[in-house]
Amino acid sequence: MGIACSHEQRSEAAPTPERSVPDIADRFIYPIGDADSTTQARDRKDAWYNAQDFGKNRHLGEDWNRNSGGNSDCGEAVRAAANGLITFARDAGPGWGNVIIVTHRLPDRSEVQTLYGHLEKIERTTGKISIGERIGSVGNADGTYLCHLHFELRERSNRYWDTQGPGYADDRRGWLDPSDFIDKRLKGASPR
Ligand SMILES: [Zn+2]
Repeated sequence: MGIACSHEQRSEAAPTPERSVPDIADRFIYPIGDADSTTQARDRKDAWYNAQDFGKNRHLGEDWNRNSGGNSDCGEAVRAAANGLITFARDAGPGWGNVIIVTHRLPDRSEVQTLYGHLEKIERTTGKISIGERIGSVGNADGTYLCHLHFELRERSNRYWDTQGPGYADDRRGWLDPSDFIDKRLKGASPR
Protein backbone atom coordinates (compact mmCIF):
# COMPACT_ATOMS: atom_id res chain seq x y z
CA MET A 1 0.00 0.00 0.00
CA GLY A 2 2.58 2.49 1.09
CA ILE A 3 4.71 1.87 -1.97
CA ALA A 4 1.74 2.30 -4.30
CA CYS A 5 0.79 5.59 -2.67
CA SER A 6 4.23 7.12 -2.85
CA HIS A 7 4.53 6.00 -6.45
CA GLU A 8 1.30 7.81 -7.27
CA GLN A 9 2.56 10.96 -5.65
CA ARG A 10 5.77 10.86 -7.61
CA SER A 11 3.90 10.34 -10.85
CA GLU A 12 1.76 13.40 -10.23
CA ALA A 13 4.70 15.63 -9.39
CA ALA A 14 6.95 14.76 -12.32
CA PRO A 15 7.98 11.75 -14.36
CA THR A 16 10.60 9.84 -12.39
CA PRO A 17 13.32 9.83 -15.08
CA GLU A 18 13.33 13.63 -15.13
CA ARG A 19 14.39 13.69 -11.52
CA SER A 20 16.81 10.82 -11.16
CA VAL A 21 18.76 10.58 -14.41
CA PRO A 22 21.12 13.48 -14.98
CA ASP A 23 21.66 14.94 -18.42
CA ILE A 24 24.87 13.90 -20.11
CA ALA A 25 27.83 16.07 -19.13
CA ASP A 26 28.81 17.04 -22.67
CA ARG A 27 30.47 20.30 -21.61
CA PHE A 28 32.40 21.50 -18.55
CA ILE A 29 33.05 25.02 -17.25
CA TYR A 30 35.02 26.49 -14.36
CA PRO A 31 33.00 26.47 -11.13
CA ILE A 32 33.86 30.04 -10.16
CA GLY A 33 33.97 33.46 -11.79
CA ASP A 34 32.88 34.04 -15.37
CA ALA A 35 32.84 30.35 -16.18
CA ASP A 36 34.01 30.51 -19.77
CA SER A 37 36.77 33.12 -19.39
CA THR A 38 38.36 31.89 -16.17
CA THR A 39 42.03 30.89 -16.44
CA GLN A 40 44.52 29.57 -13.91
CA ALA A 41 46.83 32.58 -14.19
CA ARG A 42 46.69 35.55 -11.84
CA ASP A 43 46.19 38.11 -14.59
CA ARG A 44 43.76 40.75 -15.80
CA LYS A 45 41.92 38.47 -18.20
CA ASP A 46 39.68 37.27 -15.39
CA ALA A 47 39.19 37.79 -11.65
CA TRP A 48 40.36 34.37 -10.45
CA TYR A 49 43.46 32.20 -10.31
CA ASN A 50 44.62 28.78 -9.20
CA ALA A 51 46.80 29.37 -6.12
CA GLN A 52 47.83 25.75 -5.57
CA ASP A 53 47.89 23.54 -8.62
CA PHE A 54 46.96 19.88 -8.86
CA GLY A 55 49.95 17.75 -7.82
CA LYS A 56 51.81 20.60 -6.10
CA ASN A 57 52.67 19.71 -2.48
CA ARG A 58 50.77 16.40 -3.00
CA HIS A 59 47.56 18.38 -3.64
CA LEU A 60 44.67 16.35 -5.06
CA GLY A 61 42.78 19.38 -6.37
CA GLU A 62 43.13 23.05 -7.27
CA ASP A 63 42.71 26.01 -4.89
CA TRP A 64 40.78 28.80 -6.58
CA ASN A 65 41.08 32.34 -5.24
CA ARG A 66 40.17 35.81 -6.41
CA ASN A 67 43.10 37.77 -7.81
CA SER A 68 42.41 40.38 -5.12
CA GLY A 69 43.54 37.87 -2.48
CA GLY A 70 42.81 37.44 1.21
CA ASN A 71 39.18 36.85 2.01
CA SER A 72 37.89 38.91 -0.94
CA ASP A 73 36.23 35.80 -2.37
CA CYS A 74 34.19 34.75 0.68
CA GLY A 75 30.58 34.12 -0.32
CA GLU A 76 31.20 34.18 -4.08
CA ALA A 77 29.06 31.79 -6.13
CA VAL A 78 30.21 28.22 -6.73
CA ARG A 79 28.55 26.65 -9.75
CA ALA A 80 28.20 23.09 -11.04
CA ALA A 81 30.99 22.46 -13.55
CA ALA A 82 28.69 20.29 -15.68
CA ASN A 83 25.32 18.55 -15.75
CA GLY A 84 25.10 15.89 -13.07
CA LEU A 85 23.60 14.61 -9.85
CA ILE A 86 24.52 15.82 -6.37
CA THR A 87 25.55 12.65 -4.53
CA PHE A 88 27.23 14.12 -1.41
CA ALA A 89 26.52 17.38 0.42
CA ARG A 90 27.46 17.81 4.07
CA ASP A 91 29.93 19.15 6.61
CA ALA A 92 32.86 16.79 6.09
CA GLY A 93 34.64 17.77 9.31
CA PRO A 94 37.80 19.68 10.31
CA GLY A 95 39.96 20.80 7.42
CA TRP A 96 37.10 20.29 4.98
CA GLY A 97 34.05 22.21 6.13
CA ASN A 98 31.06 21.93 3.78
CA VAL A 99 31.62 19.70 0.77
CA ILE A 100 29.50 18.98 -2.31
CA ILE A 101 30.22 16.17 -4.76
CA VAL A 102 28.49 16.03 -8.15
CA THR A 103 28.51 12.84 -10.23
CA HIS A 104 28.64 13.38 -14.00
CA ARG A 105 27.89 10.97 -16.83
CA LEU A 106 30.09 11.66 -19.85
CA PRO A 107 29.02 11.12 -23.47
CA ASP A 108 30.86 7.75 -23.49
CA ARG A 109 28.77 6.74 -20.42
CA SER A 110 31.76 6.70 -18.08
CA GLU A 111 31.43 8.71 -14.86
CA VAL A 112 33.53 11.35 -13.14
CA GLN A 113 32.93 13.41 -10.02
CA THR A 114 33.63 17.04 -9.20
CA LEU A 115 34.23 17.97 -5.56
CA TYR A 116 33.72 21.48 -4.15
CA GLY A 117 35.32 21.95 -0.71
CA HIS A 118 35.46 24.48 2.17
CA LEU A 119 32.10 25.97 1.18
CA GLU A 120 30.60 28.75 3.25
CA LYS A 121 27.11 27.52 2.37
CA ILE A 122 25.66 24.46 0.73
CA GLU A 123 22.75 25.73 -1.35
CA ARG A 124 21.76 22.51 -3.10
CA THR A 125 21.88 19.15 -1.37
CA THR A 126 20.30 16.57 -3.68
CA GLY A 127 19.09 15.89 -7.15
CA LYS A 128 19.79 16.74 -10.73
CA ILE A 129 21.88 19.79 -11.42
CA SER A 130 22.58 21.64 -14.66
CA ILE A 131 25.87 23.11 -15.79
CA GLY A 132 26.39 26.57 -14.31
CA GLU A 133 23.72 26.25 -11.60
CA ARG A 134 24.70 27.78 -8.27
CA ILE A 135 25.24 25.04 -5.66
CA GLY A 136 27.01 26.94 -2.86
CA SER A 137 29.42 29.72 -1.96
CA VAL A 138 33.16 30.07 -1.38
CA GLY A 139 34.15 29.67 2.27
CA ASN A 140 37.00 29.05 4.69
CA ALA A 141 36.20 25.62 6.24
CA ASP A 142 34.94 27.15 9.50
CA GLY A 143 37.87 29.57 9.76
CA THR A 144 40.64 27.09 8.96
CA TYR A 145 41.92 28.96 5.88
CA LEU A 146 41.56 32.18 3.97
CA CYS A 147 38.52 31.71 1.75
CA HIS A 148 39.07 29.65 -1.39
CA LEU A 149 37.47 26.84 -3.37
CA HIS A 150 39.20 23.44 -3.17
CA PHE A 151 38.16 21.75 -6.41
CA GLU A 152 38.82 18.10 -7.36
CA LEU A 153 38.02 15.97 -10.38
CA ARG A 154 37.84 12.21 -9.92
CA GLU A 155 37.54 9.12 -12.06
CA ARG A 156 35.22 6.20 -11.21
CA SER A 157 38.22 4.12 -10.03
CA ASN A 158 38.85 6.63 -7.22
CA ARG A 159 39.02 4.92 -3.84
CA TYR A 160 37.28 7.90 -2.26
CA TRP A 161 34.36 7.98 -4.72
CA ASP A 162 31.43 9.78 -3.09
CA THR A 163 33.34 10.85 0.01
CA GLN A 164 35.69 13.69 0.82
CA GLY A 165 38.99 11.77 0.87
CA PRO A 166 42.37 13.04 2.09
CA GLY A 167 42.78 16.26 0.06
CA TYR A 168 46.52 15.53 -0.21
CA ALA A 169 48.29 12.26 -1.12
CA ASP A 170 51.36 10.95 -2.94
CA ASP A 171 49.23 8.48 -4.90
CA ARG A 172 47.09 10.51 -7.31
CA ARG A 173 45.58 7.53 -9.16
CA GLY A 174 41.85 8.21 -9.54
CA TRP A 175 42.26 12.00 -9.61
CA LEU A 176 42.58 14.15 -12.73
CA ASP A 177 43.97 17.64 -13.27
CA PRO A 178 40.72 19.68 -13.11
CA SER A 179 41.77 22.52 -15.41
CA ASP A 180 43.22 20.19 -18.04
CA PHE A 181 39.97 18.25 -18.03
CA ILE A 182 37.79 21.37 -18.25
CA ASP A 183 39.89 23.12 -20.91
CA LYS A 184 39.32 20.15 -23.25
CA ARG A 185 35.56 20.29 -22.70
CA LEU A 186 34.74 24.01 -22.52
CA LYS A 187 33.03 23.92 -25.90
CA GLY A 188 30.73 20.92 -26.03
CA ALA A 189 27.47 20.01 -27.68
CA SER A 190 25.19 22.07 -25.42
CA PRO A 191 23.93 25.39 -26.76
CA ARG A 192 25.51 28.38 -25.07
ZN1 LIG B 1 43.05 22.54 -1.75
